[in-house]
Amino acid sequence: MARVLLKQGREEAPSRGHPWVFSGAIERVEGEIEAGGIVDLFSHAGEFLGRGYYNPRSQIAVRLLARQPVAIDKAFFRGRMESALALRKHILSPETAAGARATSSGAGATNSCRLIHAEGDLLPGLICDTYGDYLVLQVNTAGMEQFRDEIISLLKELLAPTMMYDRSDAATRAQEGLPDSTGPIVEAEGGPLANGSSATGAAFPDHIEILENGIKFLVDVKQGQKTGFYLDQRDNRSLIRGLAQGKRVLNCFSYTGGFSVYASLGGAAAVTSVEASAEALALCKENLILNNIPIDSQRLVKADVFQFLRDEHDDYDLIILDPPAFAKRKGQVKGAIRGYKDINLYAMKRTKKGGLILTCSCSQHIDAGLFKKILSYAAVDANRQLQILGNWGAPPDHPTALHHPEGAYLKAFLLRVVE
Ligand code: SAH
Repeated sequence: MARVLLKQGREEAPSRGHPWVFSGAIERVEGEIEAGGIVDLFSHAGEFLGRGYYNPRSQIAVRLLARQPVAIDKAFFRGRMESALALRKHILSPETAAGARATSSGAGATNSCRLIHAEGDLLPGLICDTYGDYLVLQVNTAGMEQFRDEIISLLKELLAPTMMYDRSDAATRAQEGLPDSTGPIVEAEGGPLANGSSATGAAFPDHIEILENGIKFLVDVKQGQKTGFYLDQRDNRSLIRGLAQGKRVLNCFSYTGGFSVYASLGGAAAVTSVEASAEALALCKENLILNNIPIDSQRLVKADVFQFLRDEHDDYDLIILDPPAFAKRKGQVKGAIRGYKDINLYAMKRTKKGGLILTCSCSQHIDAGLFKKILSYAAVDANRQLQILGNWGAPPDHPTALHHPEGAYLKAFLLRVVE
């Protein structure tokens, strides 16, 4: 087993349980090791700190998998995955939980959620989402790639999915020295995975119909953003359903209409959805129709939100701002602050007295404290007085490891414009 030795005084975070070791903290590596190989981590004084995988190409040179010197094999992954699945049993509706089957049409049924949330489930680099009885896999690191076959085999065994799809095309793969890997997963351990799928996986559907809190959505796993749907906003969408009655709602960065559909079903008088992607907006329309929402109460606008908000003269009772991560890297924080301030300032101007704004940031490099500061600067420039009614993160199927604060990427503040 290769050994990674830390510099003096750099053991505190990993000894507490933080899963990342940055390359700058490493004194030396002993033994032969290739990208993605398993290593043991030691403090400068030679104390064992944990076992993980190593990638000399990545700034995060080691990601820890275990704090004890346990074998990192199929049994290890089975343990971690069973623990992750147990957590989601309470999120997936009871009728759909066993194997995440989409057999339920109950009023509040949810058959889709995140099943494995990387560091949050002590499986750094691995994401798996379930959309009904389909699974979408995202492998983000060279270390996790070494265990791809075991992971696929375990998912098959534990969940018996109809089909699986690989969406390993996150930007982080390039930093790991990995090419993208996308497409239906049709072979695992030498056997065909799915019933009725051809060898090329041609049968994988273009759109999967899912249920979230009893609401239907079409998800484009192949071409959509992330793994197809923003599962992390489920609870915040529910919140909006409860607030929308009789309101004029503006949903900025609407993607495939998640918040728009919830607001409409919550009794909104009118909903405007603004989105830059024509494909997303087309699916937004389909999702509205799928839920029998009268389309004449809807305005679908293909536009840049920054421009739209500047040009807009109408006022709204409820505005949702759910932009993409403006700061995907540390170096982008400054520009991101400007971006967040800009859209929030204009949204505050366009909200009626007594109206509400649900404003979100999913930038990992902008924490809740900084985001709140940005909102306060925006309020000053908009010359409005606001109250915070609550703030939330992602739902429990996106857990954060206590010692990995970077995992708490999603912030959502509900604001009320007093005057
Ligand atoms: N709230 C959505 C998810 C939003 S993701 C949901 O619940 O599903 C962010 C969306 O913003 C993406 O669909 C992206 O295409 C869109 N987007 C990014 N930049 C934009 C811009 N400048 N103007 C409008 N839309 C933009």
